[in-house]
Amino acid sequence: MYTKERQIAVDVMRHAAQMAEQIRGETGKPQALQKADDSPVTIADFAVQALICHVLNKEFPTDAIVAEEDADTLRSPEMAWVLAEVSRHLQPYAGNADSDTVCDWIDLGNGTPTKRFWVLDPIDGTRGFVRGDQYALALALIDNGRIVLGVLACPALGLQFEEVPGQLFYAVRDGGAFVVTQDNGSAIRLERTEHVEPDRFHLLESVEQDHNDRQRQESIARSLGMILSPLRVDSQAKYALLAAGMGALYLRLPPERTPDRREKIWDHAAGVLIVEEAGGRVTDLDGLPLDFTVGVELAANRGIVAGVTRIHEQAIRALSPDGERLV
Ligand code: AMP
Ligand code: MG
Repeated sequence: MYTKERQIAVDVMRHAAQMAEQIRGETGKPQALQKADDSPVTIADFAVQALICHVLNKEFPTDAIVAEEDADTLRSPEMAWVLAEVSRHLQPYAGNADSDTVCDWIDLGNGTPTKRFWVLDPIDGTRGFVRGDQYALALALIDNGRIVLGVLACPALGLQFEEVPGQLFYAVRDGGAFVVTQDNGSAIRLERTEHVEPDRFHLLESVEQDHNDRQRQESIARSLGMILSPLRVDSQAKYALLAAGMGALYLRLPPERTPDRREKIWDHAAGVLIVEEAGGRVTDLDGLPLDFTVGVELAANRGIVAGVTRIHEQAIRALSPDGERLV
């Protein structure tokens, strides 16, 4: 199932990840531009979105693409240098594309969720990308309300976590989760069905403090017997690490200051399927399945709880009213 989709997606993600690393390698510290909502965006975000949308649109012209960025700000004269840089970096992967073409490719990602659509976060964890830490390229396909394919490229993962044999992860629904090895490019199946001792595994959480409620997360983890210090990692690399056995629980609880903020679908779709297909579970903090049918936000869900099955179950119990005293 979804064989052509998987091949095309893995292929373009590998190229896009290479391009992102080249962009970061060239400047060392990529310049961050400010979006209207104050979040950062870089040349890499635009170049990756352009390349992936261009390829997906060519191969699957009837599919919608829902991606994080758009080209609105790029069309103004003072952004011409940004577009020129994007075109230059795209050249080896997509040939000559002038400024208008690049903007059109980026805007192919302005689709809306429908029966079958792709979800793309070109650079997830842009703050990590700029800081020189972890980041991920995240692509998923949603068909009939279910995530059926997820691909995560984590170009900087092998450097910090040598135990993880590769940097590209993918999963097909009911077909398993895999990591592509760095040495010979073969795919190793990821399976988290083993018995897990909580005191040997880390809690995974965001680097950015205001993206989550660290205090509560760490208190929940301690109540489950997870005594190791948490691993703070940017982006959906957290899901990849969980699937690859580098943690047992990923908690993303809304901070008290912004209890009503909802998660974006592109921040989770790919990682969720990879963890589920590796044998783990992902729900919101009430234990409800994540609902990818209600728009670009997970409007029906609060927070994220991902983990190996038994620890996920215990975490949900601990999160219930009065729960921490019960576990
Ligand atoms: P992470 O590195 O896991 O914190 O994930 C990065 C993602 O967090 C970004 O792609 C943003 O979409 C998302 N984000 C930005 N602001 C917030 C916030 N206040 N709360 C939760 N997530 C956020
Ligand atoms: Mg993101």
